[in-house]
Parts: sequence; structure tokens; C-alpha cells
Amino acid sequence: MARFCITHKDAPAATMCHQCHHPICTACTLVTPQGTYCSPECAILNRQVKEQLRQGTSKDGMRKLEGLLKVVAAFLLLGLGFYGIHVAAQKIPKLRKADVIGRLLDAFGAIAGGTSAETVAQHVLWELRKYAGISRRSDDVTMVVARVVG
Ligand SMILES: [Zn+2]
Ligand SMILES: [Zn+2]
Repeated sequence: MARFCITHKDAPAATMCHQCHHPICTACTLVTPQGTYCSPECAILNRQVKEQLRQGTSKDGMRKLEGLLKVVAAFLLLGLGFYGIHVAAQKIPKLRKADVIGRLLDAFGAIAGGTSAETVAQHVLWELRKYAGISRRSDDVTMVVARVVG
């Protein structure tokens, strides 16, 4: 099936426009680094379409990433908040009622038997830090938050 140029009906089509997909002969072909086109209008239009697609997908990706980071940050802050209460509760007996981690650890320790609640708490916090991509134990709470939010 021979195809002919959209402009020159007797000239066989050498290729087709990258944008409008019309068959075009060698005389009509506009070659650009992005592909072959029938006209500068098609070349510009194609570049704009691609640009919009690229920006659209990268924005979507960023939004998803931001959403994920917010969830991670919320979990971290929640975990660190509970841990803060737990640490404070060691010194302030009034806080023991709010010490969710302490209660959980006491329950867990009672089941596991022998495991120190404090060891488990340290381990949990360390796991949270590893999850945030921090590998040094010396990093403090602000570093964890900065890493997730920034
Ligand atoms: Zn075209
Ligand atoms: Zn032509």
C-alpha cells in the first residue's frame, strides 16, 4: 500500500509527521532532534504537548511523594510523642496514665518475660529512625523530623 505526501499527491511519502501523523515526502519533511514533522507548527505543538505531559506526571509524582512523607512524618511524630511521654513518665508519676508505650511494653514484657521494657522501647525508636533513612544512632529527634519534612 503506497502512501503519498499530504501536500504533493504524486510524491511517495518518505515518512509521517510525528504530531499529526500525515504522510509527507522528503521535500516536506522537517527534521528536528525530537522527530520529523510536516510543519514548524506541528513541531512546536508536539513539544508543548510533551512538555505538559512531563510536567503533569512529575507534579503527580511529587504530590504522591509529599502525601507519603506526611504520613511517615505523622507516624514518626506520633511515635516520638508517645516515646517522649514514656521517657517523661519514668520521672513524673502523674504522666504514667498517658504512657501508652510503657503500658504496652509492660504488657509485652509480661508476656515475653524477662525482656526489659526499656530495651524494647530503644529498639522501637531505632527502627523508626532507620525507616526515616537515618543510620547514625547519634541523630536526635530534630534530625529525624528535618529529614522527613525537608
Ligand atoms: Zn503535521
Ligand atoms: Zn510533500
